[in-house]
Amino acid sequence: MRDTLEIRQSIIDACIEMNASGLNQGTSGNISVRCENGMLITPSGVAYDQMKPEDIVFVSNDGEYGQDQVPSSEWRFHLVSYKVRPDANAVVHNHAINAATVAILNRPIPAIHYMVAVAGGHDIPCVDYATYGTQALSDLVAGGLKDRAAILLRHHGMIATGDSLAKAMWLAIEVEALAKMYLNLLQITDQPPCLPDKEIDIVLGKIQNYGLREKS
Ligand code: 13P
Ligand code: ZN
Repeated sequence: MRDTLEIRQSIIDACIEMNASGLNQGTSGNISVRCENGMLITPSGVAYDQMKPEDIVFVSNDGEYGQDQVPSSEWRFHLVSYKVRPDANAVVHNHAINAATVAILNRPIPAIHYMVAVAGGHDIPCVDYATYGTQALSDLVAGGLKDRAAILLRHHGMIATGDSLAKAMWLAIEVEALAKMYLNLLQITDQPPCLPDKEIDIVLGKIQNYGLREKS
């Protein structure tokens, strides 16, 4: 994909939507889209309603960007996400309350609902804690996203990827809904009933192309 004004604006629109829908708050979170030789990513610490297309930063596959620009502090884990997930064209990171709460408990979201399979496995794993913006966090993300399209970040939030920005946003919303269900269940029992592996395997076989269908 080429770096266009339209893609830059779509990133800003997605950020605004992410906060308006309650999936994120303040300047937390960041969004990127894969493009030719690198990615376009939100700038660090800029309020989404103040963001302009020219503020979106191009970061090359080698991690280079303009000296006068400040990409999201998480540009390292966005870049590595595209390396480990050739299927991904967009990466959404946020501090959604329910997903972050499960991540603080350092638990994966287990197979409480068949939709867990939309992240590509039997659960939505939680990767260990490392300071935001570090290479250490990027390494943990690389390990987690190798075999899942979405993961939780311990004491932090979540990452969702997709073959389009709309699909990554869709997955982020699903992860947050599953996290909410899991927390609701934990108020009743510490061991909520889960689907057996063979049932999730059936859904995994079916669900490859399931999800948001985008109209052109
Ligand atoms: P940025 O504003 O630098 O993107 O940081 C927000 C964030 O969520 C850090 O993990
Ligand atoms: Zn964050």
